[in-house]
Amino acid sequence: MARPLGESHKRFLQTMMVNGIIDGAKARALHRHCCETHGAHYAHDKLDEFIDVINAQLQPMFMQIRKGMSEEDGLQYHALVNMAETDVTRMSTDYADNELELFRKTMDLIVDSDNGTASSTDILNCADSLQTKKLKKRETEHVLNRLVLDKWLNEKNGDYSLSTRCIMEMEQYIRMLYQDQVKVCHICHNVALQCQMCENPTCGIKIHTPCVARYFKGRTDPRCPACEDFWPHEIPDVYRSPSSQSDTQSAAKENTAPTPRSTAQTRRTRRS
Ligand SMILES: [Zn+2]
Ligand SMILES: [Zn+2]
Repeated sequence: MARPLGESHKRFLQTMMVNGIIDGAKARALHRHCCETHGAHYAHDKLDEFIDVINAQLQPMFMQIRKGMSEEDGLQYHALVNMAETDVTRMSTDYADNELELFRKTMDLIVDSDNGTASSTDILNCADSLQTKKLKKRETEHVLNRLVLDKWLNEKNGDYSLSTRCIMEMEQYIRMLYQDQVKVCHICHNVALQCQMCENPTCGIKIHTPCVARYFKGRTDPRCPACEDFWPHEIPDVYRSPSSQSDTQSAAKENTAPTPRSTAQTRRTRRS
C-alpha cells in the first residue's frame, strides 16, 4: 500500500502541477520549503525518496515525477509526466487540429536536422501546406509563441528545439514515430537531438552537447568512445549553473555536470 501523502508532499505536487517542470536547484529548494512549512522531517539528501512517496500515489493515475537532463545546459530537471498519453494527442485540449499538425511538422524538421533545431522560416513554410487548415504567418507565429510558453518548444535566435519537458513526456512517442532517424546518446542513452555526431561513416554515434563536455573534459586528444576515431568537433566547457552553488555541488556529485555548446552560449539565456 502506498504511503498517504503528508501536507509537505501535497504542496510539492501542487507546485509541480502548476509548473510542469522545474530545475534541480528549484526542486531542492522546494523540497526544503515544503518540509519546513509543514513541520515535516527534512533531509537535504532525501529528495528522491520524498518524490518516490508522491510517485507511489500518482501511479494509479498514470502520472509520475521524473528526472531528465536538458539537452541545452545539461542540468537535471524534474517534470510531472503523463504516462497514459505520451503523444501529441495529449495536447489536443489546448491546441486545434491544424496547430497540432504544425507542431508535428516542427518535430519532423527538428528530428531531421543535424543540430536538433528548426528555423522559423522552415516552420512558416510548413504552415502554408497544412492538410487540416492552413495557418497564416501571424497565426503561425502566435502558435509558436504559445508552444514556447507552454514549454513544448524552446526558441533561440529564431531557431526552435524540443524542450526538456517535451522530450521527457514524449520520448516513447518520438522513438516510435522516428525509429530510423532518431538516435540515442552514446553516453546517457536518452534521445539525442541537440548533439554532436561521430564523422566516421561506419560509426556515426551521437552524443548530447552537454554529455560531450563532460565526457571529453580535460582530454587533449578526444576520440570517439565507440570507434576511437578523432572527435573533430569543438568540445564545449562543462556548464556551471550560475543560479545555485548547491546545484553545482550536486551536479559534480552525480557526475552530471553540464554545458552549453560553446562558451559563448553560457552568456545566453538558459531555458528549460
Ligand atoms: Zn547524453
Ligand atoms: Zn565513432
